[in-house]
Amino acid sequence: MLATVVEPLFAAHYRGDIFPLLAALADDEVSTFVQCAPAVRVALGEEFGMPYGSLTPGKLAAALHALGFTKVYDTNFAADLTIMEEGAELIARIGGQGKLPMFTSCCPGWVKFVEDQYPDLLEHLSSCKSPQQMAGTLFKTYGAQEAGIAPEKIFSLAVMPCTCKKFECERPEMAASGYRDVDLVITTRELAQLLKHVGIDFLALADAEFDNPLGCYSGAGNIFGTTGGVMEAALRSACEVLTGKPLPSVELDYVRGGEGVRFATVQHEGVELRVAIAAGLADIAPLLEQVRAGEADFQFMEVMCCPMGCVSGGGQPKTLLPSQVLEAHAGRRAGLYSHDKALPVRKSHENPEIKKLYEKFLGEPLGHQAHELLHTDHTLQRRQ
Ligand code: SF4
Repeated sequence: MLATVVEPLFAAHYRGDIFPLLAALADDEVSTFVQCAPAVRVALGEEFGMPYGSLTPGKLAAALHALGFTKVYDTNFAADLTIMEEGAELIARIGGQGKLPMFTSCCPGWVKFVEDQYPDLLEHLSSCKSPQQMAGTLFKTYGAQEAGIAPEKIFSLAVMPCTCKKFECERPEMAASGYRDVDLVITTRELAQLLKHVGIDFLALADAEFDNPLGCYSGAGNIFGTTGGVMEAALRSACEVLTGKPLPSVELDYVRGGEGVRFATVQHEGVELRVAIAAGLADIAPLLEQVRAGEADFQFMEVMCCPMGCVSGGGQPKTLLPSQVLEAHAGRRAGLYSHDKALPVRKSHENPEIKKLYEKFLGEPLGHQAHELLHTDHTLQRRQ
């Protein structure tokens, strides 16, 4: 119904990406499952006149329910899952199983950069799929089981701050369950256009909730949306898992920051982790040359292509005045941290739905099922 009503309006405004979504929403035989990246909830409001960085998870969930999605899920859940898998992988590598330093693999622009420019370093990339792809593969396996819906009837949509995620979802290897992990990616701006054209009054929406089980998230999953967030989330869990004792505080300010490269050494209960964080690729070459020469003095490196991570991604609302770009990015980043602070669970391994997922479906981190569905071999997957 939605498609037949609004499709003519779109013809002049949209690239082809929106039409498969409209068709799926209008098809009674199809169940539509949607996920939203963390950075979307601190930027979408700008398209409707709200100040930079306005935090709107409740309105975002309400808007997606109003569009008619069968399940309104969240990439943040899969960010928590990424921490479980990536943390286990890091611990295994420190124990001698695999190359160090390990690089994060959640930014598809960074993965492509390594593939193209440093193919000899591909083994350093974590084998974890990105949160987008992990969520997608769960939609058509665990999510399908929990909802009692056949996987072939599920249309999997991701709303992302990132144009590069469109490329990632189309990679041939992203279908290990036998179904495409993600059928379509639209950006924050494309979602805003859709809401405006359909006539959903975003500002007037009452807050709603994301659906369980795949919409439940911790503060750690939420800060994936800015530079240093993946590292902070990983440290919150890895230090506790390695020592059995929690960090004195989950506020790891020393890994937070802006564009460029920074380093930190974390010492906790006799364990020492040395990490690097890079936002943007401008200063990455010297670090990669150190890795190449075997001289890198860190065990884990987070890299995000965009200047402040995904809050500044190419699919986010555009800031018309160049002088306000930094203000917009900083506002969105502040929105993510304030959301993290307000959430009842702030560590990925304490997310109750993550615990249930392992008990009911995955087994254990890096176990057989997790390996099949949530990991990939970057050395085999290089694309031109
Ligand atoms: Fe996409 Fe930029 Fe985020 Fe990388 S940092 S995933 S390119 S938005």
